[in-house]
Amino acid sequence: MALGSDRKSKVDFPAAVIGNQNKDQAAKLIHAHITSNENSTQDVPVILGSVSDYDELKSRHPMDREWAMPSSGIDEILKLDEASSTYRTRAFIKIQEGCNSFCTYCVIPYGRGPARSLSIDLIVEKIEALVKEGVQEVILTGTNIGDYGLDWSDKLQIDELLEAILTKTALPRLRIGSLDPTEISDKMIDLMEKHEAFCPHFHVSLQHVSSPILKLMKRKYNGEQVQACLFKLQNMTRKPFIGMDYITGFPGESEAIFNESLELLKSLPWNRLHVFPYSERSGTPATKLPGVVRPEIRKERARILQALSLERMTRGFADVRSAGEPLVQGVLLEGNVRGPDGSREWISGYSKNYQRVLIPIGSSDFQTKKNRVVDVKVSRWVVDRASGDVSWLGETTNE
Ligand code: SF4
Repeated sequence: MALGSDRKSKVDFPAAVIGNQNKDQAAKLIHAHITSNENSTQDVPVILGSVSDYDELKSRHPMDREWAMPSSGIDEILKLDEASSTYRTRAFIKIQEGCNSFCTYCVIPYGRGPARSLSIDLIVEKIEALVKEGVQEVILTGTNIGDYGLDWSDKLQIDELLEAILTKTALPRLRIGSLDPTEISDKMIDLMEKHEAFCPHFHVSLQHVSSPILKLMKRKYNGEQVQACLFKLQNMTRKPFIGMDYITGFPGESEAIFNESLELLKSLPWNRLHVFPYSERSGTPATKLPGVVRPEIRKERARILQALSLERMTRGFADVRSAGEPLVQGVLLEGNVRGPDGSREWISGYSKNYQRVLIPIGSSDFQTKKNRVVDVKVSRWVVDRASGDVSWLGETTNE
C-alpha cells in the first residue's frame, strides 16, 4: 500500500509504504508520519509500521521472485559415461523450467517459479550434437512443456519447436512429454502424421474428465474438450499410444461424479492410465475446498481405475495376438532388465508407439544389442501389476 507522492519533492514517488500486515493501522501511522515530518524532505519512500526492510515487503508469490534460467542438461547428457544403460540411446531434454498455471492442488509453481524456456535455436543445435554422438531418440520434457515459449512470445511455441527439430535435424526419433488436452494442436497432429521421426505417443496430463472437478482443480479445459481431444487422436492415421495421468478423490468428487467419470472413461479411447489418489499439499488452495474425500476412498477409487487400465492394456495385447503372429516393428533396445524368469538376462526397448518389449539375451550380448533398432516377433506378454506395465516377450527377426 503506497501513500500519495511526496509533497515537498519534485520527484514523483510514493512518500511512504505500509505493509499489508499494518493496513488496519494505516490512518494512525499516516497521521504520526505527517505530524513528525512536517518540515523534512525525503528522497526515498519511508516504510511505516512494523516492517523495516523492503525485502519483507516483497511478495512471496513466485511470480514476483527471481528465478534462474533452465539448464539444458544437454552437456551433461553428452558427458555421460558409456557404461550408462541409456547412453547413446534415449536422451531426455528439459526444454523449459517452471509453470504459470497454479492448479489448486499443486506446489510446483511455488517451488520452481514461472515458466522459462530455452530457445528453439539452442535446442536444435544441441539435438544435432546428440545425433552426432549416436543418440537415437530425444524426449522433450519440462516442468510444464505446455508453457513452452510463453516467456518470450505471446503464444505457445511448442509446435514451432517440434517443426524445427523435425525439419532441421537428422534425429531418428522424437517423443514429447506431458501435455494438456488443449495443448495438442491440429498442427502438432499434422506434424506427427507427416514425420516418421515423431513418435505416435501422447502422454496427456488429464487429471479428470468431469468439468466441475476440472474447474475446482483450476485446469484450463473442461470435460467436453477432453473428449474432443481423445477422439481427434483416435482418428489419426498413425494410431498413437495414449497414456493419461488421473487423480482420484479430489475434493468434490462425490460417489456419483466418480461413477459417471468411470463410465465416461470406459467409453473414451486411450491406452493407459497413470492413477494417483489425491494427496494434500500444504498451503495449496485445494486444501481449503469442501467435499473432502476420505483417503481410503481415494485409494479404493485409484485401485478401480488402475484395474480398468490393466484390463484395457491386456485386452489390447490379446486382440493383437488373436489377429495372427504379431510383429512389433522398430524397437529401440535400451537397457538390460530383470525378466519374467527373475534373471537380468533380458533387454528392454520401446517401439515408436510405445509398445514395451522384452527380449532374452546372453549377458555378453548386451553391449552389442543396446541402441539397435529391431523388429520383434512376439508371442506372449507379461503383466507387472505393481507398475501397471504390460510388456511383450519376443525374439528379434531382423538380425
Ligand atoms: S499440475 Fe502441472 S500445470 Fe498445474 S500447476 Fe502443477 S506443474 Fe503447473
